[in-house]
Amino acid sequence: MCNILIVEDEKPIREFIAINLKREKFDVLEASTGEEAISLLKDNHIDLVILDLMLPGIDGYEVCGYIRNNHSYTAIIMVTAKSSDMDKVLGLELGADDYVVKPFNTYELTARVRSVLRRTKKVNSREFENLVDGQIQVNTLTHMVYKNDQAIDLTPKEFDLLVILAKNPGVVFDRNRILDLVWDENYFGDTKTVDVHIRRLREKIEDNPSEPVYIETVWGVGYRWRIK
Ligand code: CA
Repeated sequence: MCNILIVEDEKPIREFIAINLKREKFDVLEASTGEEAISLLKDNHIDLVILDLMLPGIDGYEVCGYIRNNHSYTAIIMVTAKSSDMDKVLGLELGADDYVVKPFNTYELTARVRSVLRRTKKVNSREFENLVDGQIQVNTLTHMVYKNDQAIDLTPKEFDLLVILAKNPGVVFDRNRILDLVWDENYFGDTKTVDVHIRRLREKIEDNPSEPVYIETVWGVGYRWRIK
């Protein structure tokens, strides 16, 4: 099942696209602003975003940049009323996977959705990794984490944190580096955020969170994944 996020400020168009994709058995989320889109992307696994360029506030180009920097597995189809080649080139350079120009018919859009999903799933499966460490298994394609074959629910941030550490056993990451990697350089939170997320992650993956064996604290520096 694929999750599709529709970002479009014009309600009738958004609902029309949503109805058609739901009829094709896709799971659909809707956002009417760029801000709303980013907040949904942070809390949900989204396979594909249908992204209108002209939005109030944060526009489609900015949302596109945000997705490419933070959710590399999410595909993007840009939708715009502009049809000039310049806009198309800019959109594709920013990392959109495809482009449709308004007015479009729903058959065209659905066909493009299917084609982009086929293409990106193929690419992502090449980048797929299955990290296994003891009882913990991390599937970077499906974003699933298992411990002793039991699925563990992680937030996207907890998942990213886990992958960064588990991919680099023994490497110490200081809190600022983790903030840069998991949040982004525009995030002005403080390093306590990292400690809070580490604590939650430990509560989910460690047998005994107060005596962690997977995520080790390196006092005065940061955190590292254990070396087996
Ligand atoms: Ca619009």
